[in-house]
Amino acid sequence: MNQGCLTTQVIVVGAGPAGLMLACELRLGGADVVVLERLTAPTTESRASTLHARTMEILDGRGLLDPLGTIPDEPRGHFGGLPLDLTLPSSHPGQWKVLQTRLEELLGARAAELGADVRRGHEVTGLRITDAGAEAEVRGPAGRTLLLRAPYLVGCDGEDSAVRRLGGFDFPGTDAARELLRADVAGVRIPDRRFERLPAGLAIAARRPDGVTRVMVHEFGARPRPGRPEFADVVDAWKRVTGEDLGVGTPLWVNSFGDANRQATAYRRGPLLLAGDAAHRQMPIGGQALNLGLQDAVNLGWKLAARVTGRVPDGLLDTYHTERHPVGARVLGNIAAQAWLLLGGPEVDALREVLAELMPLENVRTRLAGMISGLDIAYDMGDGAGGLPTGQRLPPREAVLRGTPVRTAELLRTGQGLFIVPPGATELYTAAAPWAELVRTVDGGPGDTEALLVRPDGHVAWAGTGAAQGTAALRRWFGEPSAAGPDTAGSHTAGPVTAGPVTAGSVTAVEGPARAARTSAPVTPKNWRTDMAKLTGRTALVTGASRGMGRATALRLAAEGALVAVHYTSSEDAAADVVETIEKDGGRAFAVRAELGVPGDVHELFLGLEEGLRERTGSTDLDILVNNAGVMGGVKPEDTTPETFDRIFAVNAKAPFFLVQRALKNLRDGGRVINISSGLTRVANPDEIAYAMTKGAVEQLTLHFAKHLGPRRITVNSVAPGITRNGNPVFDIPEAVEQMAQLSAFGRIGEPEDIADVVAFLATDEARWITGAFVDATGGTLLG
Ligand code: NAP
Repeated sequence: MNQGCLTTQVIVVGAGPAGLMLACELRLGGADVVVLERLTAPTTESRASTLHARTMEILDGRGLLDPLGTIPDEPRGHFGGLPLDLTLPSSHPGQWKVLQTRLEELLGARAAELGADVRRGHEVTGLRITDAGAEAEVRGPAGRTLLLRAPYLVGCDGEDSAVRRLGGFDFPGTDAARELLRADVAGVRIPDRRFERLPAGLAIAARRPDGVTRVMVHEFGARPRPGRPEFADVVDAWKRVTGEDLGVGTPLWVNSFGDANRQATAYRRGPLLLAGDAAHRQMPIGGQALNLGLQDAVNLGWKLAARVTGRVPDGLLDTYHTERHPVGARVLGNIAAQAWLLLGGPEVDALREVLAELMPLENVRTRLAGMISGLDIAYDMGDGAGGLPTGQRLPPREAVLRGTPVRTAELLRTGQGLFIVPPGATELYTAAAPWAELVRTVDGGPGDTEALLVRPDGHVAWAGTGAAQGTAALRRWFGEPSAAGPDTAGSHTAGPVTAGPVTAGSVTAVEGPARAARTSAPVTPKNWRTDMAKLTGRTALVTGASRGMGRATALRLAAEGALVAVHYTSSEDAAADVVETIEKDGGRAFAVRAELGVPGDVHELFLGLEEGLRERTGSTDLDILVNNAGVMGGVKPEDTTPETFDRIFAVNAKAPFFLVQRALKNLRDGGRVINISSGLTRVANPDEIAYAMTKGAVEQLTLHFAKHLGPRRITVNSVAPGITRNGNPVFDIPEAVEQMAQLSAFGRIGEPEDIADVVAFLATDEARWITGAFVDATGGTLLG
């Protein structure tokens, strides 16, 4: 069944490290992005675990290292299995160990925080190039098909890339001729080996702190097998090469890889682009493939964002291919050489001996280390420079922001470019002012004689002293200046930076996203673009969303971009209809069943909720909880039994309390809790005493949880509807409706959408300053 068509600015196919990094960069650059991932949950396999110095610098330049905590580092690497000291001048010399799964988790969380729309369980099955860009046919959850259109689509979908295949990219090179078997094994005790060459083959073993040993083995001459190997194949090969028995261990993961070496001839075909393993296939040696992919994404992201937001001409995008294709070719070359040295039999021994003699020479060592660490990458920027310093990455240093030295890695975190100007060079400040929104201008150090223009990816685009040349470089890389001209409210946009103490506010500005840096109001990363839906990237649970105002709220939150869990207990078809309606409009939702007010209710609800969230976002994080489900009493005080009383309290008061309590594990800081109360806490109606008491309890819950959760910036509010149309037959009787309408100052009864709009507002960043509040949404009932 076709579920309609969705339009965005960039479609990224693949939520691996390259795809997620690209999504983050696009969001920083102000572009809307939808990421499609075939897998319903993140992979638990860690194919790679090494980050090299240049990638570490880039992650530092996006504030992504702090969440990783202390990262084990290792100065010693290898070239073709021969030890190589990788340390070179860098903020993060050597190689660093971060499991790919952890990196993906971090990038996924950052992408969501920045408002990227990541959709799991979505497989691209067809691709068309149209006049307006790219059109992807997608198979979504439960076999639904969806059309997605965007001016650009990027394949980050790995070595078997569907985008590469469907997009008609040429992918020449060689197939694998040699095979390495790899397994993670628990319960074995064998000696660690870095690269042990034995008469029958090569053996590698490394025991991790959790006791699991990763083994890799190649039997000289072994050719790639069709299909995945069994653990028995690894055990047999290991035995033949080392004489040791792995059979007593438990395999956690087994696979094989080869030395295939292929590269797309073009990284771009009109609106289609490739990044990461989709663009180049290589033997995964020393983590270079992962690092190459992340760096592709960082080179492409800001250019593509600038293009789709209309700031630069199409030609800027071509520099992605001209810059990254040669880098990829060079890495593929060094990997092919290493594969030969590593997997070759006795015939490569003589060559290895010669190399082993050469590698300790400082010139040779630094050349190879520069190649592997990525620190020596210098893009030919087409002006013949291609050398020092234009085209190279900006080495770690400090610049001066409002009189205080700040690391340039921190200044780059907004995703803007950087213009480092020698102190006192006012004409350069003036020249850069029209680009203030895209490029931060800061003072250099006392020894600086030249200005440096640094692109968002950290590469130096221009170095010089002339204002006219500086302006030309700014125009070339950042497009025509905005018509609005400089933002004179900015503290470092026009004119020299004034010295002064660094306040907490200025530190926020350093770390906030591009446009956020320009406003004095506290801004979270999610609300800095005003032209997008207000809840993009958020997740919401609406209880009792199959009907009435719960349904209207679910539709409204989804229209603002939130992924909505539609909770119900008995109306399965009605809940499915809510989900379908949301998806038809290009939104995202899923249904969750659980009866509230019975033992185990909250547990059951969260099982379904977490499963649904994990499948679609890769995490169980929740941003918005709307406690809407409720039952009315409709019994006179004389007829209210203890059972009726308990039931109504269990559904209306007890369940919301324990839902909030349980949701605290999932709610992100800055989240929202919205409880639906009732106007009956202010207007007496003896037929609903017990019901009104439950709603009074809901308001108490609101007040006290608001205080409790303030430190986490989670707001808690209650909304009190008046008489609001729902499925009750009374709303089909015109006279009754007329009578009820007279109670409101507006002379009509409430519609579910009247309440949904209020709830949606409380869910946005705009309502960040409201908590513990009772919002009367009764349409002025009985005002007097
Ligand atoms: P409604 O149309 O009666 O729908 C109730 C929703 O709650 C349905 O989705 C229902 O699921 C769910 N629900 C009911 N009992 C449940 C239980 N035990 N476990 C799980 N889910 C349950 O609701 P409404 O009139 O829009 O009212 C929504 C909220 O506003 C309620 O809290 C109500 O007290 C409050 N309110 C309503 C009015 C009004 O005039 N309508 C006025 C003031 C306040 P199923 O469909 O699966 O049964």
